Amino acid sequence: MSAPEEQLRAYVDYLRDMGVYDLYRRKNPSVVLPDGLRAALAAAGPAGKSTAAPVAKSAAVPSSVAPTPPVSRPQSGPPPVYDFFAESAPAPAPPELAAPMPKPLSFDALAPLPTQIVPAAERAAALAAVRANIGDCTRCPLAYAGRRNIVFADGDPNARLMFVGEGPGADEDATGVPFVGKAGQLLNNMIAAMGLRREEVYIANIVKCRPPANRTPEYVEASTCSQFLVEQIDIVRPQVIVALGTTAATYLLGVRQPLSSLRGTWHTARGAKVAVTYHPAYLLRDPRQKGEAWKDLQRVMAELGLKPPAKAMPTGGASASGGKA
Ligand code: URA
Repeated sequence: MSAPEEQLRAYVDYLRDMGVYDLYRRKNPSVVLPDGLRAALAAAGPAGKSTAAPVAKSAAVPSSVAPTPPVSRPQSGPPPVYDFFAESAPAPAPPELAAPMPKPLSFDALAPLPTQIVPAAERAAALAAVRANIGDCTRCPLAYAGRRNIVFADGDPNARLMFVGEGPGADEDATGVPFVGKAGQLLNNMIAAMGLRREEVYIANIVKCRPPANRTPEYVEASTCSQFLVEQIDIVRPQVIVALGTTAATYLLGVRQPLSSLRGTWHTARGAKVAVTYHPAYLLRDPRQKGEAWKDLQRVMAELGLKPPAKAMPTGGASASGGKA
């Protein structure tokens, strides 16, 4: 079996472990095979001629697979062979797989609030232990989707302010550090406008591995990874968390609401006050919203008793950029 086939095999085994046997291809698959794997599979020839154990037909993992009961495996005959090159219309997903994505659990509902505070001097070590527990994680499909580095977090283990983004992009995947690309540069500017340095805040994401093609993390990916962010928040104990964008707000708060309805009011998660604002990548695409984001940050500053430096956040100037910058 070739390396890419082994990688695919491992991914399918993972899904089977989760009780998923029947996979169906969407027109626009939400799970995009990494370019390298796609090219290698194309070079290896059709899977039907390979020695790989046959797999059900699909490249897409429906977003609703995690919480649904296992789908029954066909009882008779060999399962169909996966054909990467087939252009014919796939069979429609069965209703249990096509069900709408469930409402996520809030971070408060995911685990009981901690009864003990990690002393400030022990927080760095406690966070290192969380990172060690994550290891070379294979708990969700993102492990098989071309990830290069697990992006744990950056910043001060004793920060009063935490920023939570969606998930690593290409630059973060390459370096293992969150928010280092164009969106990260804008986030740095936002932090500086608040009168802080990046090293003084704590920065993390809902998922720690890059979703392929920078797509939004699937429910199963975000839900699987959230347990670690819960631990990080419980250790750092920030006074305020800023949720950057819809995905961060959705999973931290356990709500599916438009960002506009979540901004301008305080929420709570793990004992911290949570403010919701635009994701920096969105602000790069639509700099006109920077003024609104600045209003959100000013509320956070008031809460933390921060004074802006003489020159505060600019309201324009960042160049437009598509995707997760
Ligand atoms: N976008 C995010 O949501 N997180 C990062 O770390 C980088 C870009």
